[in-house]
Amino acid sequence: MDQIVYQYHQNLYINLTNRCPCACVFCERQYFDGLGSADSLWLKEEPSVEQVMKALGAYDLSDYKELVFCGFGEPAERFMDLTEIAKKVKKYSAIPIRMNTIGLADLIWDRPCAPLLKDAVDRVSISLNTPDPKRFQELTRSRFGEKSWFSLVHFAKECAQNGLEVRLTTVATTLTEEEEEQCRRLAESIGAEYLIRPYEEPGVRPE
Ligand code: SF4
Repeated sequence: MDQIVYQYHQNLYINLTNRCPCACVFCERQYFDGLGSADSLWLKEEPSVEQVMKALGAYDLSDYKELVFCGFGEPAERFMDLTEIAKKVKKYSAIPIRMNTIGLADLIWDRPCAPLLKDAVDRVSISLNTPDPKRFQELTRSRFGEKSWFSLVHFAKECAQNGLEVRLTTVATTLTEEEEEQCRRLAESIGAEYLIRPYEEPGVRPE
């Protein structure tokens, strides 16, 4: 069960898929297999919506601060299942629901996805990584190429316009102060929050 749903700090996480349109140079999957209460987040097969709901049923959601879609892959690869699960959870729990993403849902599904998150997910945390589209491509090696950064920003903006709390994140020590300021201004311009996440040593499993 732990591969589908796992605990990390005070949150409960859902690991929907190991698929991802990117191959980030910093991806933690290169270094370790699990996180939090999960020894391994490598899925033998992707869980169905019903299997996720059953796995969630083993937990009292009121014990956790947030329910987060984030595993060893990009949750937007299962965007439609993600919204279905989130809406089912909303029927019986008030727990805030967050999606952690690289922000490329519109490219994966070839349609505007942000409106579908309304009434399903409360918060979206998007790894902006850099204010530079070319650098973004070098870092993430997205299969969609250099249009990826622009699609991410458009998705973030549409999430905010659909009433979601949106957070754009970068990692401490990886950008200059000027670049961080550019990210901050970008976030402000689209109604998002800007968060600089702490740097984590590559290869060291986070506690
Ligand atoms: S988007 Fe996330 S899961 Fe995908 S390669 Fe990058 S860090 Fe890894």
